[in-house]
Amino acid sequence: MTAKILIYDTIIVGGGVTGFASAMYAARLGLKVMVIAESLGGTIALANAVENYPGFINITGFELAEKIRNHAMEYPIDLEEDRVVHIKRDENSLFVLTTMDRKTIHSKTIIFATGTKLKELNVPGEKKFLNRGVHYCALCDGGFYKGLNVAVIGGADSACMDALLLTQYAAKVYIIYRKDRLRPEPVTYNRIVKHPKIEIIYKTNVKEIHGDTKIDYLQLDNFHNGSDKLKIDGVFIAIGHTVLSDLAKELSVELNDKNEVVTDKNAQTNIPGFFAAGDVTNGMFKQVITGVGEGVHAAYSSYRYVTGTKFEYY
Ligand code: NDP
Repeated sequence: MTAKILIYDTIIVGGGVTGFASAMYAARLGLKVMVIAESLGGTIALANAVENYPGFINITGFELAEKIRNHAMEYPIDLEEDRVVHIKRDENSLFVLTTMDRKTIHSKTIIFATGTKLKELNVPGEKKFLNRGVHYCALCDGGFYKGLNVAVIGGADSACMDALLLTQYAAKVYIIYRKDRLRPEPVTYNRIVKHPKIEIIYKTNVKEIHGDTKIDYLQLDNFHNGSDKLKIDGVFIAIGHTVLSDLAKELSVELNDKNEVVTDKNAQTNIPGFFAAGDVTNGMFKQVITGVGEGVHAAYSSYRYVTGTKFEYY
């Protein structure tokens, strides 16, 4: 006699806003749902201010992620805080997930919402001063720099929002950007260029982070005010993210040249039953609101796959 196994209708891999929005819809559609994630919150949890999620004029990323998760968990969702290390498909077309804690979990569908991880600069001194001068979260660590001088590396939304937040504490905030015009949302750009505490250093990269017991200066690859050394007390790195799609690749899910999972507008991939949503996909505009929307599409596609329904929910 073979032992009975529990088979989920859908397993959502990823504990960010996309994953939980998807889980909520899947559970409301009556599917048996599990969310597996190594950590909860996702990258938005590090954003110091989200001003473009409808319904919230200004909210921290952490609070928004928590609200979405708590909302989802009002429904019957199994939550497993663990890392998925393999996904394969068995002879019955079930997805079989293996976790770091050596659990084996079966599901009819997968909603892949693993998102991205923060990129490191990979320069000497970065590891040495980690959390002692080198930071990746202005919201978490900005308060250590009251009256001091800091630099933010990067030139898009995260870097610019971090720089604005840091002006609340620091005496001076440099933005060091490798190109010649910052590229955040226009509303943010206008605030940055007018801000008296912010100075932008264009066409420049950081080559090294120097110091003995604490950071002394950044070695730049270009001259600024006659020197290629910039004296600062702390540096915040906000240079984007690496897509976490390796598990999908193992299953031969189609990826594009940026390693993003290729999906259609219904969150379907080339593998039947394997759906993907949020920052891990090839979606053009990566925002909380788009991730949440894609997660909802994935839940509905999963529902249709599991039930074989032709019923349209619109
Ligand atoms: P992005 O990938 O959009 O930008 C990364 C920035 O870092 C770019 O300016 C890039 O330069 C620069 N960069 C990348 N690698 C290096 C390197 N090795 N050395 C120096 N500079 C480097 O990441 P973000 O985190 O800013 O944004 C990710 C997504 O999240 C975006 O879609 C953004 O809109 C969204 N977001 C939304 C927020 C909100 O809604 N409030 C807040 C924060 C992010 P280059 O310009 O040359 O490519």
